[in-house]
Amino acid sequence: MFPKKLGHLENKLLNTGIAYLKGVGPQKAELIASEIGLFNYFDLIQYFPTKHVDKSALSQIKELSEEMGSVQLRGQLKQITTTGNLQSKRLTAILIDSSGSIELIWFKNYNYVLKALKEDAVYTVYGKVNDFKGKLSIAHPEIKIYSKDDNDKGLPLEPVYPLTEKLKARFMDSKFFMSLIKQVLYHPDFDIPEYIPESVYKPLKLINRKSAYQQIHLPQNNAIQLAATRRIKFDEMFTLAMRAEKNKANRLLEQRGIRMPKVGDLFNTFFKKYLQFELTNAQKQVIKEIKDDIGSGKQMNRLLQGDVGSGKTIVAVLCMLIAIDNGYQTCMMAPTEILATQHYLTVKDLLSEMPVCVALLTGSTTKKNKEILKQQLQQGEIQILIGTHALIEDDVSYQKLGFVVIDEQHRFGVAQRAKLWNKSTLIPHVLVMTATPIPRTLAMTVHGELDVSTINELPKDRKPIKTIYRTENYRAEVMEFIRNQIEKGRQAYIVYPLIEESKKLDLNDLMNGYEMVNNFFPVPKYQISLMHGRMKPEVKDFEMKRFKEGHTQIMISTTVIEVGVNVPNASVMVIENANRFGLSQLHQLRGRVGRGGDQSYCILMTKDDMNFTSKKRINTMCKTNNGFEISQVDLELRGPGDLMGTRQSGLPDFKLLDLVHDDEIIDIAKRAAAFVLKNDPTLEASENAPLLEYLKQHQQDNFWGRVS
Ligand code: ADP
Ligand code: MG
Repeated sequence: MFPKKLGHLENKLLNTGIAYLKGVGPQKAELIASEIGLFNYFDLIQYFPTKHVDKSALSQIKELSEEMGSVQLRGQLKQITTTGNLQSKRLTAILIDSSGSIELIWFKNYNYVLKALKEDAVYTVYGKVNDFKGKLSIAHPEIKIYSKDDNDKGLPLEPVYPLTEKLKARFMDSKFFMSLIKQVLYHPDFDIPEYIPESVYKPLKLINRKSAYQQIHLPQNNAIQLAATRRIKFDEMFTLAMRAEKNKANRLLEQRGIRMPKVGDLFNTFFKKYLQFELTNAQKQVIKEIKDDIGSGKQMNRLLQGDVGSGKTIVAVLCMLIAIDNGYQTCMMAPTEILATQHYLTVKDLLSEMPVCVALLTGSTTKKNKEILKQQLQQGEIQILIGTHALIEDDVSYQKLGFVVIDEQHRFGVAQRAKLWNKSTLIPHVLVMTATPIPRTLAMTVHGELDVSTINELPKDRKPIKTIYRTENYRAEVMEFIRNQIEKGRQAYIVYPLIEESKKLDLNDLMNGYEMVNNFFPVPKYQISLMHGRMKPEVKDFEMKRFKEGHTQIMISTTVIEVGVNVPNASVMVIENANRFGLSQLHQLRGRVGRGGDQSYCILMTKDDMNFTSKKRINTMCKTNNGFEISQVDLELRGPGDLMGTRQSGLPDFKLLDLVHDDEIIDIAKRAAAFVLKNDPTLEASENAPLLEYLKQHQQDNFWGRVS
């Protein structure tokens, strides 16, 4: 077993191996290392308790119930017995106090325990109460012979550490760890130096670092324990925020960006002559932010958040026109072929009267066409290239790439984005667009380095989508509703979940659904499109086009239409087996309707009996159309790692900070970091010296990569 990186330790004492503590020694130290990965004093004091229990309180055995969880008892030990055979041996004893008795049980490592237990002695016992068919017991309790001194010494709040059975069986329980930590925290040489200037942490009502470490383990009272937790959480976020702010500042200092100072003919002509609607204020504001950014000579790295249907595409197009006006090429990357194709058609249509060369490059572009495209790209003829990740293949090179749009960013990995980065000598400006609003706390941590723009309003004429849920009993009614909408000239989607495109069962669902819908809506009066991921791209394109142009009234599909598909005339979205979809997916799907001026509807087909989380998801959908609220609920239901997709998330591994509930701390840490750097960008001031040193010592891999 090799010790972990030692370089980052703050002083010599903390560097000492655990074996040197009283009561440990090499054997125990090795077990501690292999069981919970603690090697030295510093590891130990960073091993935070999960909770504290008030050990001044004793429970009466008569009053115990399973609901009480962990309790502390005091009583005499009787009837120490081993039973069972070699395979399943167990050790039991009875603890008796003045009110009653309870059984204590050991299934494992009972030999160690057996040696230590003394019949008739008085013990203090701590553990979790189990109720097995009315018979109460405590398995593997912490147990200690009671002595009168126990009453005077010690703190009322005792830390509980997450420990393994193996450790506990060798009497390395929470009490044991508490004693080790005490030795470290109150050692005469113990110090854990402050690295944040007092002028920063004091006004934030934070306690200093040394007391935080002492009080988080061995608090005098609950309030101090909370203050200690708060300070350590603050540290976790503060260092992250400092690094993010610093990287951002460095990027702005070091990375000279392409300067795009002018708003030229293309932008102006399009804006005046061809833009069909008035931009929302939010759209105008975002365009202004981007314009200022790319005109400044600094490299832009911006995240554009906007709920589904908020009109991000037109913002991207207008900004690309500015880039072209300044003599640069642009590209727009989408996660799927359908979406790339659709963007291509939209952009081509928008710019049909404009002298701008738009091209499409996807995985299914023929070899011959690809060669032609590549040549045109290198010669600078193509001004807007739209496509899938085919855009970033190694052999695709641009003459003068200046502005990159990445749509639906959450599907791209950092590595892919970095590849795009290498496409030109000067780093192009990057606009990342996402319709999956990231909860504020996540945005601040994961995208700390990005500037964020938000479109927080929908175009004026939009009516909020009405969402309801219905069970199978109401099938006929739902179909009638669709018929009614079709008669008014509208169109409908019916979507089936397909968790994995290869699952036969799901495809059967889709085909059965198709048949069912066909019965309700017979040809030739009605035309139906069918689409799923296993179809050839040209077939999908064809079906999509038929639907878009109104030749078919109903689109039956799997979630291939999830992101970005835009058919403003569609007014009904039926989601089958809606309880099987995640919240953000439901919201994305719903966003396929409500894109025109008509009232739109989303009908969630569900089972009669749903579990708690399904119910919560469905209710949330019916209650709100707000993507930010929805993503917040999603975060609470699923946790941050899952929400972001752990591998791509780049979420650091926080010991205490909780991204769901600690937004206040995240906020103040972020602001404190910005404040420090604003006053002293290079951290030269003497009061910032410890901070600079600390950040240097705690240099970690930069988990964001260079782009986003
Ligand atoms: P998303 O942000 O989900 O990508 P889109 O860019 O696809 O949204 O826009 C959705 C629809 O709204 C499109 O049909 C687009 O033309 C239209 N749209 C965008 N901005 C406005 C606006 N300011 N007023 C009216 N319609 C708009
Ligand atoms: Mg979009």
